[in-house]
Order: sequence, then C-alpha cells, then structure tokens
Amino acid sequence: MQRILQPGDIESLDRTNPQRIRLPLPVQLFAERAARLEQKADGNPIADYLRFVAQIVRAQQKAAASVQTAAPDADLIAQAQEHSMPLLPAASHIDPVWQDVLMQLLDALDHAEHVPEAVQPTLQSLRTMSAEERDTLARRVLVGLLTDSADLAAAPVVMAALQVTFADRASRLQESDVPYTDPASICPVCATAPVASVIRIGGRDAGLRYLHCGTCATEWHMVRVKCSHCESTKGVRYQKVDGGDETVLAETCDVCHTYRKITNQEKDPFAEPLADDLATLMLDLLMSETDFARASINPLLPMAETDATPDDHNA
Ligand SMILES: [Zn+2]
Ligand SMILES: [Zn+2]
Repeated sequence: MQRILQPGDIESLDRTNPQRIRLPLPVQLFAERAARLEQKADGNPIADYLRFVAQIVRAQQKAAASVQTAAPDADLIAQAQEHSMPLLPAASHIDPVWQDVLMQLLDALDHAEHVPEAVQPTLQSLRTMSAEERDTLARRVLVGLLTDSADLAAAPVVMAALQVTFADRASRLQESDVPYTDPASICPVCATAPVASVIRIGGRDAGLRYLHCGTCATEWHMVRVKCSHCESTKGVRYQKVDGGDETVLAETCDVCHTYRKITNQEKDPFAEPLADDLATLMLDLLMSETDFARASINPLLPMAETDATPDDHNA
C-alpha cells in the first residue's frame, strides 16, 4: 500500500528545508528560562527583579507539568489555514484553566523568598478578585490596555499564568496545524508580537533565526535580513552596548524605526530570548537615546505599552 506523505513528513525528509515552526516543550522551556534568569542575575543592575521573575518562572515550570488545556480543534485549524489567520488569537481564546494556573503561581509565590514587599498587595488582590474580574484583567493584559498602576503591577503574574496556558495549547499542535499567516510579524498560533528573536544552534534549526512569541512561546522562522516588525529588507542594522558581548543585539530598522532584540545561541548556547531580553535592560537604556522605539514589550516586565508602531514611517 502506498503511503501519502504529509507536509511535515516531506519537510523532515528535506534537510535543506528549514523548520518553519518550533512548537514549545513547556516544562523544558520554563526550566531553561528560570536557570538563565538566575545566571544573568549575578552582577546585574536589576538582579533582585531577575531573581523574582526566576521564581515566577520556576512556578510556571511546575504548573506546566500538570496543566491540561483543551485539545486542538480540527475545524478551527482548517478555518485558520483557509484564511491565513492565527489559530487562537490570545485575547479571544483564553482557556478557563488559566485561573487554576494563576492560583498555583500565587501559592508558589507565597513561599518564595525574593518576592518584593511592594508586590504583596497585588498578589493578594488577584486572589480576592472574582473569576470574571480576573478574565477581564487577562484580556486587558493581552491587548496591552493597562490603565492604572494596579493593573501594571499585576500584569507579569497574570501574563505568567497565561503563558503556561497558551504554551500548553501550542505544545498540543503539530507543525502542520499552524497556518501560514500574513503578516509574518505576529505569532501564527496566538497572534501576539514576538518578545525577541533567537538564532538557534543544533540539528535542523542550526544558524536559523526564529521569532519567539511572548505569550505561547511558539517560534517561527524569519530570515535575518528581514525586519521582525515590518518585514522590510531595506535597513536592518544591529547595535550593542559598548564593550558588551554580542549574545544580545538590538536589531534596528530604518524603515519602521523600531528595534527588537536578537539573541544568538552561537555566541552563548544558554541564551533564551525572553530571559536575555529582560537581563539586558542596559541595551534598552542605550536605545532610548536613539530614535528607535521598542517594537514590543517584555510580558514579564510591568510597563505601560508605548505606541511603538509609528505607522506614518510605513507609508
Ligand atoms: Zn503565540
Ligand atoms: Zn521595520
């Protein structure tokens, strides 16, 4: 009997065809991220914050081992592929288990040692909110509509619970389930902007650049010559902190006037896009003196979303 090859089979036979999508392995992802944050905290100007975030990520790792989100929906996959749309746009596809994950994270932080005193009221208020209020807050966090300082303070923990939930959903997909989307600058699974990009090492992905989703941790391939924000190939350049190593560079674009960091595992095999982005705030400080705006936020850093989409430059 003749077996018909699926697209994924054909791709894996062809070593010259780059892997388009890297779906997350959540437990491993959070373990590596936490270890990287702990490593980068030493001597870092924001060491305390990095250690606090490392504890959140350790709690994510634990929650990721047991979370059970909805199985992939074949109709939804077919529909998204037909329209070249992201599969599960985050703000409208929040799996209800996220509430349990949030409680697990809050419990873990109760016993953690690096939790700043100032964060305690926020953690307490997340516990006492109604489920509806928490859902509303989750949607606001996902679309970047954070109106007051209480929202901002809660955002990293809310986002951490959503990351566990969405990474689990993404991990249940096959590479061939993920639609080819346009624009290619948002996550094809959950429609979130990438937090940073990463040049991977090892196997079929070696030397390739992937954009790393800030919500579900799916990675999708984009050639290095393209701007990860506007996809222009006309003016991509790199900046680094004077005297700093080249593991993390700011990739700037002369067309859309934004920057996003690119982390390079060829320079440091333990580089992890979200952790390395957070650990290099010095580079953001440097970039704030240029006319390049940050293309997207780091989901674990409380910050009002700046309007980093100067569309007038895109015309
Ligand atoms: Zn995503
Ligand atoms: Zn651009």
